[in-house]
Formats: sequence, structure tokens, C-alpha cells
Amino acid sequence: MSTRPNSPAAKDIAYSLHPYTNARRHEETGPLIIERGKGVHVYDDQGKDYIEGMGGLWCVALGFGEERLVKAATEQMQRLPYYHSFAQKSHEPSIELSERLLDMAPGDMSKVFYANSGSEANDTVVKLVWYYNNALGRPNKKKIISRIKGYHGVTVASASLTGLPTNHRDFDLPIDRILHTACPHHYHNAFPGESEEEFASRMAGQLEEMILREGPDTIAAFIGEPVMGAGGVIVPPKTYWDKIQRVCRKYDILLIADEVICGFGRTGEMFGSDTYAIEPDIMVVSKQITSAYMPLSAVLINDAVYQGVADNSAKISTFGHGFTASGHPVATAVALENLKILEERKIVDHVTKVAPRLQNGLRQFADHPLVGEVRGVGLVAAVELVADKDKRSLFDPVGRVGFHLYDTAQKNGLILRNVGDSLAFCPPLIISEEEIDTLLERFGQALDETY
Ligand code: PLP
Repeated sequence: MSTRPNSPAAKDIAYSLHPYTNARRHEETGPLIIERGKGVHVYDDQGKDYIEGMGGLWCVALGFGEERLVKAATEQMQRLPYYHSFAQKSHEPSIELSERLLDMAPGDMSKVFYANSGSEANDTVVKLVWYYNNALGRPNKKKIISRIKGYHGVTVASASLTGLPTNHRDFDLPIDRILHTACPHHYHNAFPGESEEEFASRMAGQLEEMILREGPDTIAAFIGEPVMGAGGVIVPPKTYWDKIQRVCRKYDILLIADEVICGFGRTGEMFGSDTYAIEPDIMVVSKQITSAYMPLSAVLINDAVYQGVADNSAKISTFGHGFTASGHPVATAVALENLKILEERKIVDHVTKVAPRLQNGLRQFADHPLVGEVRGVGLVAAVELVADKDKRSLFDPVGRVGFHLYDTAQKNGLILRNVGDSLAFCPPLIISEEEIDTLLERFGQALDETY
């Protein structure tokens, strides 16, 4: 380790346990300390500039340094820095935001519940699904089906929904009543010669088989991200969601859209559910709702779910769930301003306009000897590296080469994220075509240095 004693880096090593970090590697190499940001760029403590190719963690929609969000937070802090929403208390920013979200949401959503993170929101969803079925007198209809490689968070219930080994291993997860069905990744999981359409039908068929095997009366809900993010940016076949939705309807199974990454323009429409014509019964949003300037998440539920929950709350005398900061006034005020800016600046139209520059630009790397698949939609994408292009075989161990490329990209001034050997891209939605060109240039350079 070359960090000076008592430097911020040395203190970070001494005092911090970092999320999603190999702690022993961190002890040796120390942190990258980011000091400030502007637009799509961030700068480290040495003044080095990086394009934030991941918008932080898939979240800084409006980029860094958006003064209007700072002003909205400051003004709300001066007016009412905190109030809660327990026991029938409320305040204007959260009321206005709920109205706005219900107005924007796909399908027929009826009520909004606030939490602080995607994980808390998905934990809330699990509890709501169980509570709702108890309210309907269906104590056995409790299992929730998620997908292998789905990502829904890290709390006990949401990590159980997540379908990734690192979130289960040695944490004694998943909890029971959570099942995982197949991941709709055509590139790796299709049979030889199987079309996307046939593959989508087979995925929906596998879901139906699981439901029948378990007993439809035991399955309460199906949860999925319209486009899987943290599992490696997996874009489903066009007809996948329609087929999945039909299976859910057939067996009276709630459909939950986890829009934590897709929500608010990422896929080129306001929600991933709009892109894939999903009509969820429950929807979860977070991240881009405030451009991550404040922590906030929301669970939207349709009227059927609400009525069940409301009846049960009356029977028990309270809905026994909520967080100290549920609907925090500063977070909801920032969200309102963020959504206002998205609309005024027509950010979703901007995404539609610039997305081809990113998607086509990345596809130019498809011929590179290391690249197996380039995939994506809107302003989210992944480049997957493979050991053998023809056999589509993975590196051993998985993630070694991906991590090397991630690290090389960082040295070249581009922050990405490697999910195994897939390099994920999810830049701020405000990124310009010129900035996309610079991002592609830095990535190309890193890729050439990796091979
Ligand atoms: N759901 C999805 C789709 C996510 O991508 C994430 C985080 O990346 C979460 C839930 C969990 O959100 P948080 O990290 O805010 O708990």
C-alpha cells in the first residue's frame, strides 16, 4: 500500500467496511476518492477527470451539480427539514409527489408508500404481498417468484428476491417462500437455433411449470426488472413480458415491476413497463426519482392491493409498517423538482435521440476478439467478454478479465462497473453525443490495452 499515513485513503482503510468490495484488496490498494462532480464528469482528489459511465450506481439521471436540485433541497430544509408520515401526518412535498407519480405510472396505480432505498422498498413489497393475501383469507398464497440474475436489493427479504450467488452465499439466504425461475438471456440460455420468440415462450412455459408444480394457490407474486440491471444488463426478448404477464393473470398472481433502474427515462420511455407494455399491480421506483441527490424510494400499488391492505389495517387497528424517513420532505421535494426538470427539458426525448449513438457505438466493438455480446436499450448497455467467441464460453474464473477491463477503463478516465465479465454502461441521461463519443473512445482504448 502506498498511501501516506493519516491521509484520507489511509484513514478509509483503517475505518471503513465498503459495500461490494473485496476488503482484503481494499486494505492493499485503498480507495478512489471522488471529490466533486459536474455534468457527466467526476474528479478525484488528484484532480483527475472521469466520465461517470454508470451515473454513480445507475442513478444520477441529471448529472452532477444540478443547481435546481440543490435549491429545492435547501429551501425545503429551511421550511420543514423533517416530518414523518406515521399516524395520519403528512406534508405537501410528499402529497404532491404521490399525485405526480400516480399520474405518470403505467397501468392503474392507486396509492404510494415511501421508503429510502430500493432494498427497503422491495422488503416492503414482500410484506405487502403477504399482508394482502392474509387480508383476503389466503394464508397459503405466499410464495414469490423472482429470477436468476434478478437484482432487488440486499436486505434479508430483498436479497432473497435477488437471484445472484454473492447475495446469498454465507448470508444464509434466500429465506423460504422465495423461488427463482430462469433468466431470459437469449445469448447464453437459448438452445442452438432457437429464435427469440421461441425462447420467450419457453421462459414463460418454465414459469408456468413452476407455478403448477408448486400449486397456483401457493404463488402470490412474480417480480422482475423490465430490463435486468445489476445481473448484467439483460434485455429480454420483445415478447417476453407479454407472455409472462399472461401466465401471471391466468393464475391470479400479482405482477411486480422493479423499476429501480429502468424508471424515469432509462429505457427511452418514462418506465421500462412502458417499453415492454407491462401493467404491473405493484411497482417499485428509486434511484433516478431524485437523480440520487437524496435517498428515496416508492412502492406504487393498485387499488385491489390497497383495498386489501386498508381492510387489514382497520381490522388490526394499524398498518404496522413504516420508516422514520418514509416520504422525507427534503427527499420528496427534490424528487418533485427532479421530475419537473425531466419534463421541462424533455429528457426522455433526449434519451431517445442520443441512445443510438451509445448503442451503435458499443456494437462497433462486437468484432473485438474479447467481446461476446453487446446488448442494451436506451441509455443502459453491457459489453460481455468471453473466453471463446464461437462457444460463448466464460472466463475462468468469471470476472477476472472483466475486472481488469474495469480497472483499465478507470485509468483511462472512464468509470464503469463489471458484472462478472460484462461491463455495464448507464451514464447520466443528460449525456451529449460528443460526451458519448469520448466515453466510447476511452472504452476502446481500455479494451485494446486489455487484449
Ligand atoms: N432493485 C433494483 C432493480 C436495483 O438495481 C437495486 C440497486 O441497484 C435495488 C433494487 C436496491 O436498491 P438499493 O441499493 O437502493 O437498496
